[in-house]
Amino acid sequence: MDLSHIINHLGEDREQYFESVSPPLMQSSNFCFSSVAAMREAWPREFDSPLYSRGVNPTVSILRKKIAALEGAEDALVFSSGSGAIAAAVLSQVKAGDHLVCVEMPYSWSDKLIRNTLSQYGVEYTMVDGRSVAAIEAAIRENTTLILLESPLSMTFELQDLRAVGALARKRGITTLVDNSYSSPLYQRPLEMGIDIVAHSASKYLSGHSDLVAGVLAGSKALIRPIMQTEFMTFGACIAPNDAWLILRGLRTLPLRMERASSNGLAVAEFLEQHPRVERVSYPFLKSNPQYELAKSQMQGAGGMMAVWLKADSIQEVELFCDALKRFLMAVSWGGYESLILPICAWYADENTGTSAQPWNLIRLYAGLEEEEVLLEDLQQALEAMG
Ligand SMILES: *Cc1c(COP(=O)(O)O)cnc(C)c1O
Repeated sequence: MDLSHIINHLGEDREQYFESVSPPLMQSSNFCFSSVAAMREAWPREFDSPLYSRGVNPTVSILRKKIAALEGAEDALVFSSGSGAIAAAVLSQVKAGDHLVCVEMPYSWSDKLIRNTLSQYGVEYTMVDGRSVAAIEAAIRENTTLILLESPLSMTFELQDLRAVGALARKRGITTLVDNSYSSPLYQRPLEMGIDIVAHSASKYLSGHSDLVAGVLAGSKALIRPIMQTEFMTFGACIAPNDAWLILRGLRTLPLRMERASSNGLAVAEFLEQHPRVERVSYPFLKSNPQYELAKSQMQGAGGMMAVWLKADSIQEVELFCDALKRFLMAVSWGGYESLILPICAWYADENTGTSAQPWNLIRLYAGLEEEEVLLEDLQQALEAMG
């Protein structure tokens, strides 16, 4: 992959816009025609050239080309959110009477899509422990049309064997969809491992600056084109040209940002793992990870996200740690420049009363782009503050 060519040049027709280095922002909903003949001729190309921006917008088209190339795909679509992208892809692959297999504990709104929305339309599902290829295989039925994966999982970071599941699904004629947000296209390329469709929340690494919400899909033309002509156009979760432009800008530094988040991520994971107030750390590239070999075989990097289970006797101790952190912001989301924590105890009224499937001593931590020493020092003082 010629990474810098994709990021710096691909899809940018500079001679069409005054040789400007940065592409113009086509902030237009609409594109006009000089004659009836020209308009008549445009209809059949509605999905290929600018007509109305819910479908094709030139600024968004540049981004589509870059995302497709980064994932090694024939085509890509850009949506107004990652959830919108995932919902469109899932809905394109199931109808009433079909069955889908999904990895257990996926991103919360993927989970709700399957359990709450699809079940209302007669789509059956089985949630399985994704660490076991055998469990995934055993869940497949006659009417299974889709296997939905998320590797690593976005709360506790267990992996699925993408090559094995891809091969298994191809043999049975089942479509596979992977949420690849954790790794970005730089550190995991599922299509090359036999997966059919890749989804990302572009709100995370792809845009990288915590200033917009967006999503993408990438895959073969045969899969992406029907999604565009149906779910993409009817649900209308299209991205605003301004947000697409910001993602183009974010992509320019994606390799540098991924490198920094990864080196900080590993340093923080190794530091926390040896600390007496930490029970366990889940980070794909820690040698203690039971799936370390699999992680190394299908990912080229592990970014900044991890799960940390504190050794604490009470929620209050966890709160002392969280509230003492000065350089980690407390928030959802991740993948930006800033380090973050998401304390699961925020879903608990007390140790015995919670609405999360995860335990109250779990903290999801994202190491951002700060200096490594700054992050380690902040964690050290916050762990001491636990008492
Ligand atoms: C954030 C996230 C999503 C949802 O994306 P939005 O852009 O917030 O809609 C999906 N999957 C994963 C793994 C995420 O982290």
